[in-house]
Amino acid sequence: MTETDSSTAGGSPLLVRAGTEQEIAPGVYVLPDRRVNLVPNVGIVLGDDAVLVVDTGMGPANGEIVRAEARRLGGGRRTYLTLTHFHPEHGFGAQSFAGEAELVYNRVQAEELAESGREFIELFATFGPEVAELLEPVELVQPDTTYEGRTELDLGGRTVRLQEFGGAHTRGDQVVLLPDERVLFAGDLVENRFFPIVFGVASGPAWIETLSQLEELGAATVVPGHGEVAGPELIAQQRDYLIEVRDEVAAAVRRGEDADAVAASLGPELRSRYASWDNPEWIEFAIRDFHARGGAASA
Ligand SMILES: [Zn+2]
Repeated sequence: MTETDSSTAGGSPLLVRAGTEQEIAPGVYVLPDRRVNLVPNVGIVLGDDAVLVVDTGMGPANGEIVRAEARRLGGGRRTYLTLTHFHPEHGFGAQSFAGEAELVYNRVQAEELAESGREFIELFATFGPEVAELLEPVELVQPDTTYEGRTELDLGGRTVRLQEFGGAHTRGDQVVLLPDERVLFAGDLVENRFFPIVFGVASGPAWIETLSQLEELGAATVVPGHGEVAGPELIAQQRDYLIEVRDEVAAAVRRGEDADAVAASLGPELRSRYASWDNPEWIEFAIRDFHARGGAASA
């Protein structure tokens, strides 16, 4: 605990805060992101025999905190670690669990991590010295176990489902569903009052489709990648936003407007319609994604 205490006492806002867990169902905890950029919501799910950790925070400094929290809450149960996707702030503390926990990722996510992990460290390091410092000691670790489609983990008296929904935010997106408690850890497929990051391999049209599939899982409690834990309305909100971008971009494409023109006119409008959402810089990325697809899938 000493190392945990001293690292949180260090006060970097980019560190997951020990001792702040919210119990969202019996034995199901979230270490909340406090709406700090580059801090994710971290999940810790207890069964009678094992504990599942969902995401690690960015870099081993966070990984150590989350590992210690899992040990504190899990009381020495054997540990699984899984990641909602390969992005640095979600999974690049995994090395702190290697050799001690069983790391379970979907196969595509593992491939994406191997192919693009290094590139994302370099990209994120440009966000500032504090981020670079957290990422500097990162070693990318591969999972012990991979699956395709979906798999279940028996934690002892509690079964959790890991399910792939790749191709929306990243190629290897994964959600964690607790079917009995109807809790869904959605990763960055769903955010609460943050604009979704339609960047890189992300696809706006695929994302809309994925959100409809997530809704069908019937969750009552949704843990977003970032932002406060809430209900299934978060999924609908995210989809409604993307549909709005899609339809407005499609209309602009029919009027013959190029991407720059649409970004200049629609961007500020969406900003004011979603005034309570953070990180508006991602609006333009969504606009450009749909525009590049010719206003795709809007028919
Ligand atoms: Zn992400």
